[in-house]
Amino acid sequence: MAYDDTNIFARILRGEIPNDTVAENDHALAFRDIAPKAPSHVLVIPKGAYVAFDDFAANASEAEIAGFMRLCAQVCAMEGVSLDRGQGFRAITNAGRDGVQEVPHFHLHILGGAVMGPMIGARD
Ligand code: 5GP
Repeated sequence: MAYDDTNIFARILRGEIPNDTVAENDHALAFRDIAPKAPSHVLVIPKGAYVAFDDFAANASEAEIAGFMRLCAQVCAMEGVSLDRGQGFRAITNAGRDGVQEVPHFHLHILGGAVMGPMIGARD
């Protein structure tokens, strides 16, 4: 699937739309979800143009992957949900139609601050 650079997260990365930034490094940006589904709900996105998790995992450079993963760890610590500072979290990434991905720029949801409940809801 080709990357569509008009997607909302591409626009956030270009500074065209404001965001509530939590943390950032050379390769990734973390910001609060506009419609939080948990007391803490942060989205971590690579700065590079990757459609979904599998695209990122296959095609990103080692520096991009490391930068992304380290920012995820930083967010967990900053939000107080990491296992050494808090009570844990759920990390989710949706991909494509069947994954019900809304924004076609790879992102990881980090959700915490409460027990998350069942892993997935009913499919209908
Ligand atoms: P997906 O379904 O693609 O995994 O999740 C997309 C997420 O992006 C949703 O949780 C939605 O609330 C969030 N979102 C959509 N538009 C915006 C926006 O303009 N700003 C922020 N911060 N989050 C957004």
